[in-house]
Order: sequence, then structure tokens, then C-alpha cells
Amino acid sequence: MKYISLLGSTGSIGTQTLEVIKNNSDDYKVCGITGYSNIDLLEKQVLEFRPKVVAISNTKYYKELKRRVGDITEVVTGIDGLIQVATMVESDIVMSSIVGIAGLVPTFRAIEKGKTIGLANKETLVTAGKLVMDAAKKNNSTILPVDSEHSAIFQCIAGNNIKSISKIILTASGGPFRNKSYEELKNVGIEETLNHPNWSMGRKISVDSATLMNKGLEVIEAKWLFDVNPDRIEVCVHPQSVIHSMVEFDDGTVIAQLGIADMKIPIQYSLTYPERKPSFTKKLDLFEIGKLTFEKPRTELFRCLLLAFNVLKEESSHPVVLNASNEIAVDLFLQKKISFTAISELIEDTLQSHISQKVNCLEDIIEIDNWARRKSMQLFNERCEKL
Ligand code: NAD
Ligand code: MG
Repeated sequence: MKYISLLGSTGSIGTQTLEVIKNNSDDYKVCGITGYSNIDLLEKQVLEFRPKVVAISNTKYYKELKRRVGDITEVVTGIDGLIQVATMVESDIVMSSIVGIAGLVPTFRAIEKGKTIGLANKETLVTAGKLVMDAAKKNNSTILPVDSEHSAIFQCIAGNNIKSISKIILTASGGPFRNKSYEELKNVGIEETLNHPNWSMGRKISVDSATLMNKGLEVIEAKWLFDVNPDRIEVCVHPQSVIHSMVEFDDGTVIAQLGIADMKIPIQYSLTYPERKPSFTKKLDLFEIGKLTFEKPRTELFRCLLLAFNVLKEESSHPVVLNASNEIAVDLFLQKKISFTAISELIEDTLQSHISQKVNCLEDIIEIDNWARRKSMQLFNERCEKL
């Protein structure tokens, strides 16, 4: 039996992880779960999966959750509660599926304890790539990618010498607005932005997919996970989302990983690795798909992808600023306070006001993250009319 600490159990990745665990209940059990504020779902999950600990990170809901499930499980709260679940002695695997930089500290603490990490939270590597990879090496912690592209690359590399990689080809669906003009993009609404053509995901990553920031964050994630120079990472728009990514080797061979667009497949693989187990997902039907197509990303319109490549040329503080400013901009867009095209403008302006600095520890990252959030809000307040 393998025990799992599931960070972000109420989210899209979290609930799908629970489905995978349920389908493999002879081999996997959840020992701790966490959520932010959705106490109704946490209560349901506690009753069904009986974890030893449940963390509700928003302290406002602690008393109520404790009242509801306190007699069957330990209820904890705040950042300490998240860390408690992330570092439980019982857990063999920590599934890191909180959204945003909020996932960084608990994931980092789990790595320091030498846990095996199923990494869905891409913001962890975007903001703290070097610190995280160094800590993983030092503490013998294995990081298994859950993001479908990185899971694909991981599988394409298996059995090959990492030194013989000439290029990583990250595929992107192109999101819901692949063919729109700048004028059209200015006026897109929230509902159509969240309506991704191939994947069903949480709200923030759905907006990131539409702006192509998601692909930008994935470029940074790939750089750290696979230790490749960004000039060897290419983004290829592949609207069918059948090929989840590819790796080109020195001899000209390209290895691709294919499958249907269902996150339960890479989630399950991160839990069963290095084995594969039967899954209940639909299988790929190539005849039904018929045709696979590839396009260059339109970075002149979807500037977030360019911004992500650019921050990799700068000091380590720039990706932290990119991420924080993106979290603020996405939030403002979801509150209908700025337009879709203003998302990249606000991030670009925040990056331009940033003076590079070295990042030596988690505290540095938190400080830079706070600075970037304040700066983005200040820029928004100054220019909200224009944005
Ligand atoms: P989601 O919004 O559906 O769920 C987020 C989870 O994080 C929830 O459990 C929520 O309670 C928790 N959370 C939110 N804010 C928090 C905070 N401040 N403190 C503690 N917990 C908090 O998000 P998701 O789509 O499941 O994505 C989770 C992560 O996985 C993201 O980093 C995303 O980029 C990555 N990812 C998601 C998918 C996908 O298909 N959904 C695919 C690849 C990678
Ligand atoms: Mg992805």
C-alpha cells in the first residue's frame, strides 16, 4: 500500500487524483488532504477517503470544518497545516496540486523531507527552479512530472542519455483564441476564455492557456526539470492535443508521446511509476482523429509566451515577478477589471519596473513575489482606465 498526501484535493487535479486512487484502492490510499475554502467538498472527501489529517488553509473555515469532521480526522489550518500534510511521516508520495505560488512552501518542505513528489503545481519550478532542483538532489527526493507535456517528455527521454537531446518540442493546443485577431482578443469574455477546447481545468490555468502564459510557464518548468537550455525548447501549436510533447535527439530521431487529453493518465503514471497499470480512461482512436496538424505560436499577439522566454535570460528574480504579476493580472481579468489583452501588458510593465536580484532562499522569493504583486496592483490603479 502506498500513502499519498494530496495538496489541493478540492481542485481539478486534486479531484482527478482521488478518482485515480479510488480506481486503484488496493494499492493506494490518501493519508492527508488539503483545500482552501471549499469545506463542503472537503467534508465529503473526508467521509469517503478517511484521511488521517485534513488541512483547510483559510483559517476562517477551520472551526466549521472541525465541527463537521473533527471526530473522525485531525483538522489543521494555515500554512502550518499545509506543511503538516506535506511532510506526514506516513506519506510515500506528495501530490502537489495547489494552484499558484501558494503551493511552493509546502512542496519545498516535502522535498526537504526526501518525499517523492507528483508535481502538478508548475509555479513551484517557475519561481524556485534552482532551489527546488538543488534541494531535491540534496535530499534524494524524486520529482515526477504530472503536467501532461512534462510527463510526455519524461517518458520520451526514458532509456536515453539526456546529453543526446538536441531539442524539446513542447506542444500547445493554442487555447480557445488561437485564430482570433488583436481586436477580437480585446473584447473576449470570461466564459469563452474558460472554455478550453480540449482540457477541463481550474480557472487560473484555463486563463493561462488562453493567453499562452501556461506554455510559457511550462517552458520554464521544462528547463529546470530536464536541465535543458531554453534555446533548445521549441513550442509547437498542435490543436488536436494528441501528441503531448516530443524530444528530438542528436541523431535526428524524434520521440513523441500520444494519448487522449485526460489528466488522469499522467496523474496515474506519476503514482504508479515506473510501472503502468490499466486505466479506466478512453483509449486513443487514431482513425477517429484522422489528422494531426502543427503551427507556429503567434507570439506577436500572445506575448506572454515571449515574456516567459525572456525572463529566462535574466536573473532568477525575473521569473518570480512574471509569475506573481500573472497571478494578479489573471485575478483582475476574472474580476472583470481588466481586458484579456491587458493581462500581458500589466505583466510586461511590472517586469520593466523590476531591477534584477539574486535569489538565494525561499524568503527571497516570497519577498520578490510580494513586491511584484504590490507593483502590479499599483500599475493597475494608476492605469485602470487604459487597461
Ligand atoms: P484548481 O483551481 O482547480 O485547484 C486548486 C487547488 O488549490 C484547490 O484545491 C484549492 O483549494 C487550492 N488552493 C487555491 N488557493 C490556495 C491557497 N492560497 N492556499 C492553499 N490552497 C489553495 O487548479 P488546478 O487546475 O487543479 O491546478 C492545480 C495546479 O496544477 C496548477 O499549478 C496548474 O497549473 C497545474 N496543472 C493543472 C492541470 C489541469 O488539468 N487542471 C494540468 C497541468 C498542470
Ligand atoms: Mg500542461
